[in-house]
Amino acid sequence: MARYTGPVCRICRREGLKLYLKGDRCYTDKCSIGRRNYAPGQHGQSNKKLTNYGMQLREKQKVRRYYGVLEGQFAEYFNIAEKMPGITGENLLKILELRFDNVVYRLGLASSRAEARQLVVHGHFTVNGKKADIPSMILKVGDEIQVKEKSRSSEKFKSLVENHKKTAPQWLQADPDNFAGRIIAEPTKEDIEIPIAENLIVELYSK
Ligand code: SF4
Repeated sequence: MARYTGPVCRICRREGLKLYLKGDRCYTDKCSIGRRNYAPGQHGQSNKKLTNYGMQLREKQKVRRYYGVLEGQFAEYFNIAEKMPGITGENLLKILELRFDNVVYRLGLASSRAEARQLVVHGHFTVNGKKADIPSMILKVGDEIQVKEKSRSSEKFKSLVENHKKTAPQWLQADPDNFAGRIIAEPTKEDIEIPIAENLIVELYSK
């Protein structure tokens, strides 16, 4: 399935909450959720009650869109999560948080996950000193992420670092002065910006 290229605020309105897809704008009163908090489209304001299946599907779509992951890849992550020791839903969230593009965003080295994905693909980062340009790469505790030396003088990174306001979650150690950061622990659900009922996703895939 192709990546969605339409207006991203519609996605938040569809899911009924802020998914922080548009960078700085999401933190201003220009956010569409504040102004039109109902689903887009002709029947957006109708109060339709969801079935169990509908709720499971919406939860999966919400998480998938929040992390910007395609359908097939999301199902693959679920398979990996199922085989890992521990609770499948928590494993799935851990995998998603440890995606390279998400880590870059969470460190404040990009203003959104979409931008992080683009910056990674364009080869602006290293992981443990080695070139890394695959946004879906799953990182691990101890990994060090850095903006490449020659990219640091670009207006983009200078402004990201100068305007660095976001606090990194506890599992990350941000070092904006050195355009870098490190994973110091495993991510937990409590550090995720939006509420997620991962049990609904597990139920959906277990059918
Ligand atoms: Fe748009 Fe961001 Fe608000 Fe979502 S959170 S509606 S992407 S401005």
